Formats: sequence, structure tokens, C-alpha cells
Amino acid sequence: MTSPEPQTTPLGARIRALIEAGGPMSVFDFMGLCLTDPEHGYYMQAEPFGADGDFITAPEVSQFFGELVGAWVVQTHAALGSPQRVHLVELGPGRGTLMADMLRVAALRPAFREAASLHLVETSRRLRAIQRTTLGEAGDHTHWHDRITDLPTDAPLIVVANEFFDALPVRQYVRTPQGWRERAVGLDAAGSLQFVAGTGSLDPGSLPADLAGAAEGAILETQPLANALMEELAGRIARQGGALLAIDYGYARTATGETLQALRAHRHVPVLAEPGLADLTAHVNFEALARAARTGGLRPRPLLTQGDFLLRLGLLERAGQVGAGRPQEDQERIRGEVERLAAPQEMGDLFKVLAVAADDAVLPLFDGV
Ligand code: SAH
Repeated sequence: MTSPEPQTTPLGARIRALIEAGGPMSVFDFMGLCLTDPEHGYYMQAEPFGADGDFITAPEVSQFFGELVGAWVVQTHAALGSPQRVHLVELGPGRGTLMADMLRVAALRPAFREAASLHLVETSRRLRAIQRTTLGEAGDHTHWHDRITDLPTDAPLIVVANEFFDALPVRQYVRTPQGWRERAVGLDAAGSLQFVAGTGSLDPGSLPADLAGAAEGAILETQPLANALMEELAGRIARQGGALLAIDYGYARTATGETLQALRAHRHVPVLAEPGLADLTAHVNFEALARAARTGGLRPRPLLTQGDFLLRLGLLERAGQVGAGRPQEDQERIRGEVERLAAPQEMGDLFKVLAVAADDAVLPLFDGV
């Protein structure tokens, strides 16, 4: 008798062997392996971005995104008192497009450009090479780091992270009659991967009161790694000065609901189906991220939607300038890009922007200037 062939990716086979030997692995460990396993992890081998990839991010939609974020960065440097040295840091830069677009704007501001040194935090060697090519000459002066703990400690940090926190593994808990149990990945009778209730549990005291009565089967996600990285960065910024801007899709208040998803070639696929070949992400809990920043010693500013953030930075004016005098088809393309970035039914509402800095800093846009 031949059994049906279970998941056939090389990483899937390895995960099955690990589970056979050691029992179910947490969703957190599964997601971590799928994304960053040095040999078969998604970011190490796949071509995630763009029309031929699995998803498209705001900097790849339009240069306006990086240019406007760059304008915010330059204004923030000025608002912090134009320190003579500053480290511009990007977390998870993908193809390097956002950094390249930010630098085009920064080049017009010598006070910033002369003060800034460039730092990219990126685990994937393959993506580092692409980032280097995208950055061209600026790549010669860029420092790459595996971890945020390797960032320099001698000057203020202005940190930008677009779609970084959603790419970090989450834990999932499922409500059972015995309370919250950590969700894990095990094997069914045919040897295929399936979700199971693991043995770990969750301290109910750590939950908001309105989740105490969650129905059986409800799923709760936590993001311990995202929160730990935010707390570490906030601690550094509290000591060194600076600010952090995180842009991502997510929710403003802790709530139940599963957001872990797998994407391949712009389509949703089952989360367990193609380990290492599909991108896995989860929506960011901005309430938890803001709390982590506060624990690290900074004040989180009220969230803006991406639409508000870009419009208030002058998206329409910038689009108008670039489009002026151009042929009809260019103008239509530009209109489409603006729509995609800022319209509520596109990226405008789902994507949120969190800015954090010292309590007494006056951040452009977020502190009423
Ligand atoms: N910011 C880019 C890409 C987002 S995809 C854009 O907007 O287009 C996520 C990025 O984070 C990739 O570059 C990935 O390699 C990187 N990454 C994922 N996990 C990471 C980790 N733990 N440390 C550093 N970089 C990571």
C-alpha cells in the first residue's frame, strides 16, 4: 500500500523528521524555521518581492513611499536638534528600495547626509547582495548587521522598519476547556503536518479582561520576538537618542483571531502546505509593540494609518509635481500608485504607522508639527 505523499519540500521533510523524533513543535518554532532556516528558509532562497514574487510591499509599489519616509527622517533629524552624527538604520530592507528612495531625498539635505551613517539589519545573505546592488555607490558606505544588538552605541539612531515586524514568528494559543494551550504542529496518521494543541499554556493574568471569556476554539497570537526587539531598540534610543518608525499591517488593540497567513505568488496557500517556499506573516499587534517601547523607556505616539501618514507628508502634492506635463498613461500610473498606497480599501487603512521617541522629543507629524 502506498500512503499519499505528505509535504514534499525539503524543509517539510526535515520538520516531519524533527516532529517524529521530538514531538510537536510550536507554531513559533515552525514559523522561525520556515522563514530563516539558513539552508531552506524562505528569505534565504525565495524571490519574495514584486510582480514575479509572492507579495508586493509599499516601497516596491511606488518611489513616493520611500521619498516621503525619507522626508520624515530628515525632518526628524532636525527636530532632534540636528545631531552632528546619527545612524540611519533600516530593519529588514528587502530589496533595498526604501533605503535608496530615502537617500535620494536626503541627498538634498547636506546637514543630514553629512551626519548620517547607514546601517541595514538583514539576516539573508542573498537579500544583502541585492540591497548592495540597489544602493549603488551608497552601498560602499553601508554597514550590514545580523542583529540589532550589533548596532553602534555612540550616536542617536533613527530606525525605520517597513513590513519587518510582521515577518517575525508568533506564538498561537487556542482556547480549550482546560484553558489556553499553545498551538503546535504535529503529524496526522498519514504523516502530514497538522495543527495540534501543544502542552504549553498561557498565564491568563497576562490577558486583557475582555479575553477571559473567549469561546472554545478561539485563537490568540502573541509576538514575543517583535516585542523583545522593540524593547531592546527603545532602550538604546532612550540612552543614545533618536526615534523609531514602524510601518506594518496590524491591529491597534489586543484581540483574538488568527492572522498567521502564507502567501505564494500573490495567493493565499495553507500555512502548513509548503514549508520554506511560501512566505509566512502575521499581523502586528501595535498595542503590544507600543507597550514594549514604553518598557524600553520611550513614549509611543498615537498610531496613524499609512494613508493619513502619507497624505499628511504631501503624497498628493508630490504625485502632482511628478505627474505634471507627463503623458496621460504616466499620470494614470501615478494615480494608481497613490491609490494603492493611501486608499482605505487598499493599503491606506490596514497599514499603520507607529512612531516612538523620548517623551520630550517633538516628532514631525506625530507631535502636531
Ligand atoms: N522592508 C522591505 C522588506 C520586507 S520583508 C520592504 O518593505 O520591501 C522582511 C525583511 O526582513 C526581509 O528583508 C527579510 O530578510 C528580513 N528579516 C526577516 N527576519 C529577520 C530577522 N530576524 N532579522 C533581520 N532581518 C530579518
